[in-house]
Amino acid sequence: MDFEPGERSRAILETVGHFVADEIVPLEPDFLSRPFSELLPALEEKRSAVRELGLWAPGHPTELGGMGLDLVDLGLVSEAVGRSPLGHYVFGMHAPDAGNVEVLHRYGSDDQKTRWLEPLVDGRIRSCFSMTEPDMPGSNPVMLATTAVLDGDDYVIDGHKWYTTAADGAAFAIVMVVTDPDAEPHRRASMILVPTDTPGFELVRNIPVMGHAGDDYFSHSEIRYRDCRVPRANLIGDPGRGFAIAQERLGPGRIHHCMRWLGICRRAFEMMCDRALSRTIAPGQKLADKEIVQSWIAESHAEIEAARALTLQTAWRIDQYGWRTARQDISAIKFLVANTLQRVVDRALQVHGALGMTDDTLLAFYYREERAARIYDGPDEVHKISLARRILKDRRS
Ligand SMILES: Cc1cc2nc3c(=O)[nH]c(=O)nc-3n(C[C@H](O)[C@H](O)[C@H](O)COP(=O)(O)OP(=O)(O)OC[C@H]3O[C@@H](n4cnc5c(N)ncnc54)[C@H](O)[C@@H]3O)c2cc1C
Repeated sequence: MDFEPGERSRAILETVGHFVADEIVPLEPDFLSRPFSELLPALEEKRSAVRELGLWAPGHPTELGGMGLDLVDLGLVSEAVGRSPLGHYVFGMHAPDAGNVEVLHRYGSDDQKTRWLEPLVDGRIRSCFSMTEPDMPGSNPVMLATTAVLDGDDYVIDGHKWYTTAADGAAFAIVMVVTDPDAEPHRRASMILVPTDTPGFELVRNIPVMGHAGDDYFSHSEIRYRDCRVPRANLIGDPGRGFAIAQERLGPGRIHHCMRWLGICRRAFEMMCDRALSRTIAPGQKLADKEIVQSWIAESHAEIEAARALTLQTAWRIDQYGWRTARQDISAIKFLVANTLQRVVDRALQVHGALGMTDDTLLAFYYREERAARIYDGPDEVHKISLARRILKDRRS
């Protein structure tokens, strides 16, 4: 097994690394102090520069105008751009658009591809993925209350969703809806494409998350669908295939998240080391001289490297053998990396003392924003249970 980057990937990673450091990191103070929408003109300029470098949309297939990288290389790029919260957006590899591109590429009709997929890949529009509901357990996604009922040639959608990331300013939502309530649980739901200007699509609010409602791409919305009528042709794939489609985008999506989290870990880790080396804590003594800080540094290093190795191995397995073979590791990396992220950011913040609580560094943003890593993409507990069950089943047989 070899997941070391090849020559082409090394060159890509070097260019990406310089671009993030020189062009994106300088935008972060504005990002931390101003609404995201005010940064859009500057971000558009950076996106143009990325396109000129031939680095736009690293994970999307070449026939769509992306770079078509395999999962290992894509993971490495995701880690490199993940060093900045703006990185994925600038390189056209941001969630949830990346996953929605994959869904439309594989299951979209010709018309859906022309109308929605092409501008989405180009970065001319944005999208969102609307599945979780306030009154239903997101951890058990077969329990959905939002319905789409056929009326002539239209589906009429009614329901209540929340935490639809990036809905503010999105051109369309891919909505998970129950189309056949009498089918067995995993065949009840379908994905349906809903343009956000459809009457009955009501963005209620951007939900304050740990005190920050955000705006535009950096937000999570509550949405009501009331008599929201879309043509039957907006169904993605066959009726009842919603969960099957969702499952297929699971593996690549997980690598994408985990490597982004590892990019954050690296950044926070470097900040922790730099602060420890520069902060005088007593005459002639730096924080870095204290054994407890040394212990945090050593633990963080070991945890990041271990989590990274398992994530890249999982990516390699998916590339080689498909996601089914890598199922156990796809579950394992979810909670392994999410918890590594939380511990590393927490230690880095602690080392910064009061400074860590301000918005003068990225750490407070990471601390509040990435706490959710243990909840979204399936809560950790659900992944632990399903991993343990599979291990025990194999052991019994
Ligand atoms: C920042 C953020 C962004 C998100 N973005 C999106 C998005 O773009 N689109 C979208 O559709 N959704 C999104 N979500 C929603 C997310 O997917 C759900 O929050 C998640 O699936 C958990 O569902 P829930 O919140 O309803 O928790 P619940 O299902 O109510 O679970 C609550 C808690 O119970 C525990 N638990 C659950 N099941 C078990 C079990 N079997 N055994 C033991 N313990 C268990 C877990 O600790 C879990 O955290 C986002 C959430 C956040 C926080």
